[in-house]
Amino acid sequence: MSKRDYYEILGVEKNAGAQEIKSAYRKLAQKFHPDRNPGDKEAEEKFKEGAEAYAVLSDTEKRARYDRFGHQGVSGAGGGGGFDPTIFADFSDILGDFFGMGGGGRRPGGASRGADLRYDLTLAFEEAAFGTETVLRIPRLEACETCTGTGSAGGKAPTTCSACRGQGQVRFSQGFFTVARTCPQCRGEGRVVTDPCKSCQGEGRVERERSISVKIPAGVDTGARLRLSGEGEHGRAGGPPGDLYVVVQVRPHLRFRRDGSTVLSRAVISFPQAVLGANIDVETLHGTAPLEIPPGTPHGRDFRLRSQGIDRLGGSGRGDHVVTVEVEVPNPRNLSEEEVTLLRRLAEIGGKPVKEERGVFDKVKNLFG
Ligand SMILES: [Zn+2]
Ligand SMILES: [Zn+2]
Repeated sequence: MSKRDYYEILGVEKNAGAQEIKSAYRKLAQKFHPDRNPGDKEAEEKFKEGAEAYAVLSDTEKRARYDRFGHQGVSGAGGGGGFDPTIFADFSDILGDFFGMGGGGRRPGGASRGADLRYDLTLAFEEAAFGTETVLRIPRLEACETCTGTGSAGGKAPTTCSACRGQGQVRFSQGFFTVARTCPQCRGEGRVVTDPCKSCQGEGRVERERSISVKIPAGVDTGARLRLSGEGEHGRAGGPPGDLYVVVQVRPHLRFRRDGSTVLSRAVISFPQAVLGANIDVETLHGTAPLEIPPGTPHGRDFRLRSQGIDRLGGSGRGDHVVTVEVEVPNPRNLSEEEVTLLRRLAEIGGKPVKEERGVFDKVKNLFG
């Protein structure tokens, strides 16, 4: 029987990188995994073929030999297709992400860690800046009080599952390697409840809504994740609880923006203020602050008000407030006749001519007056 090309099996180019090979294999392994295709011989073959191709192409040395000598180069003297059993460590790593075969999860005896929960919390700009305390209402699975989490009525202990002898997994051979599958009889619990509790139908857990008080530290920003250890769902059969993750989203402010712990805002000044300088007031998160505009300030200049921004997370001081100055060009409609006259005079003295006498102002007066 002639073997298919390993690159062809994974559907990648000859020059594919390690990451590309890995993700191609993941896709293939997911699609043809025996758990997804029970009893399908063709899928099983494809799955094995993919595993073999990946075993070679993910190993730099074997890949180099395969590239030079083809299948001959990688079929070991010991037979069995030159297949290195150590690949399965890596193999289960890859599938673990998809099938929950990796770390954590179930333990023999049926106890398992409760699921982590996520709560999306939206905060006002000021709440995020100054910190706040809030109460979250979280629906979660908790140990059933009636059966103290055992799932068994009358506190009778569940019996060990006969199909897996309490292991929670059954193993079966598939050609050159062994696949572990969740036991169908006890669904991985390792134990079977013969007389289920009425309150929880033998599940051992019931859904409850809990109010959890959370302190939000000053300085959090959009995307911050706060972990409340042990506030997730309760575990099965006395397993440890999961964690609760609070993911923060900060609402935008009307006048302020933020860049980390720095607050940004704009201040509008007039042309005379920009030219001759002025003392103005600017609004910050901490109240009104005086700002000196020096003579000759150009449009767009930034002024930094030290420590008038947001507390840095972890308590290492406070950020600054940066004001960007905007020089206002007034709408002639909003100017008095005297102001227009003075502007004309200014233009005249400066030698930079403006539109003729019956200019903007008169026209606007005629249109809107
Ligand atoms: Zn119960
Ligand atoms: Zn079982």
